[in-house]
Formats: sequence, structure tokens, C-alpha cells
Amino acid sequence: MRRTMVAGNWKMHGTRSSIAELINSLRCLALPSSVDIAVFPPCLYIKQVVDGLKGNLIQVGAQNSAVEPTQGALTGEISPSQLADAGCSYVIVGHSERRRMMGEHDGIVNRKFAAAQACGLIPVLCIGEALEQRESGNTLKVVSYQLGSLIKELGMSVFANAVIAYEPIWGIGTGLTATPQQAQDVHAAIRTQLSEETSEIAQGIRLLYGGSVKAANAAELFSMPDIDGGLIGGASLNANEFGEICRAAGN
Ligand code: PEP
Repeated sequence: MRRTMVAGNWKMHGTRSSIAELINSLRCLALPSSVDIAVFPPCLYIKQVVDGLKGNLIQVGAQNSAVEPTQGALTGEISPSQLADAGCSYVIVGHSERRRMMGEHDGIVNRKFAAAQACGLIPVLCIGEALEQRESGNTLKVVSYQLGSLIKELGMSVFANAVIAYEPIWGIGTGLTATPQQAQDVHAAIRTQLSEETSEIAQGIRLLYGGSVKAANAAELFSMPDIDGGLIGGASLNANEFGEICRAAGN
């Protein structure tokens, strides 16, 4: 039985004071203990969030990390070993905003994934298609290629300790959500692809859906058999909304 997970990607939002408010509101939520919950603040505020959520069941992750596992001469980057030292448990790799805006191709994503795991962090690998790829009928091909690249480079065993988030690019921050069936079809294809390699790992891995998830649509999405929770952007900045999404994942 897979534990569901809800991950809140705060993206490049927040100030010390707005984050202090969000921490306080998160601490007041009644959250289901059956769900793994994590928030991903901007790097600058990770320590504030780790300290502020001490004793709470919400864990903390980072939105990005370096391709190298350990500290060294890499100006402007933060190594996964430093993130682990700061109290992170997870790191997002391959978010479509970074793939598109920072030119992070599969080779870079795969290195970041491996570096994160080498430091004991759990990578949350994001994959998903653009609108034109969906409209031309290439969704499964694109997703399978992104996943296949990682399997080819790092092997299947790395998925024993990882999370995959299917995030159609056209659904991120747009208010457009994949229908539960559209999302389920892609999740089922991802699990089948993994299962062709190692069935046990495929059955155990959490597959999150991301793309304009909110309290109003979470329960329906999470009721699908291969959707094990969500990666939430905008709605995770509102503690009450985030709490409702977490409770939907716990039902
Ligand atoms: C995301 O950034 O991963 C995301 C899914 O954003 P939103 O929920 O705002 O679409």
C-alpha cells in the first residue's frame, strides 16, 4: 500500500515575514498522519521553515540543487549535501520551469537526481508534456522518453527511493487541470513503463499529479488508482487550501 504524499512548491514566493505567517498558519492545521507532507520554500528561507516547523509532521525540501553532490567551486549553486545539512529531506528535480527557462535537459536532470540521492535526499522527478505535444498526440512518448533517459543512465534501482511527479506543462499555473482520467492514463503508462523493468519498484513508487491542483479538484484527482497525491504550486501558498488538499489525500 503506497502512502499518499502532498508536496507544496512555493516557487520564488515569500519574504521573511510572509513566510513566518505561512509557517504559523501551517502549524495550526489539522493534518492527516497517513499522508507524507512536504513544503519546498525558496532556498534562502529553508532554515527559517525547518526551524519554524520543528516538531510538526510537515517535512521540508528544496526546489533545486547542484549537479555535484558535495560542496566545492560552483558559484551560485547549492549542493544537495548542504541541503541535507540544512534539514531538507527532498529535492525537486527537472521542474518544467527549470527545463524550459534554464535549459536543464535530461542529462542535467539525471545528474541532479543522482547527486541528491548520494546525499540522502529523496528526489521528486518532474516530467510532463507541453500543450503542442499533447495536441499532436505525443504525451506518452514525451513522458516515456524523459523517464527512459533516467532509467538508462542511472538504472531502475534508483526509483526505490524517489517520487515522480507528472506535471503537464499546460496545467502549471494556468488554472487548466488535466481531467482525472487524463492524469490517470499518463500515471498508468508511467507505472507500466517502470513495471516492465522491475514490478516491485513500480508498485511501490509514489506518482504525484501536478498542475493547478486546488482544494476543489484534489479529491477527484487523488481518487484515481495511480495518482498517489499531488505536487501543488500556487495553492500551497494558502495554508487553509493546502490543508484541505492534504486532507483530500488522506481520505
Ligand atoms: C508546480 O509548480 O509544480 C505546479 C504544479 O504549480 P500550480 O499548482 O500552480 O499549477
